[in-house]
Amino acid sequence: MNKNGVIHYVENPIYTRIREHLGRHNGHEIVVAGYGGKGQEPWNMSIECETCNCVIMDADKFMEDEADATGEMGMLTNKERRV
Ligand SMILES: [Zn+2]
Repeated sequence: MNKNGVIHYVENPIYTRIREHLGRHNGHEIVVAGYGGKGQEPWNMSIECETCNCVIMDADKFMEDEADATGEMGMLTNKERRV
């Protein structure tokens, strides 16, 4: 609130990121899927939109080196795919 009693709102950057990257899937059927052998820890985890039939983001358990880990906030991985 400024000296005139006016409240100034700024857009939350986390909201902005979610809207930019996930807004197109608003209201869609979203699932989390793990891929791997039966009874074993998945070697890949993904978040998928069944409505669009696309992978929103996924990540393998292992990577060759740390340079592959470009994710920020654990939300956007090196394998983020957009449709
Ligand atoms: Zn979708």
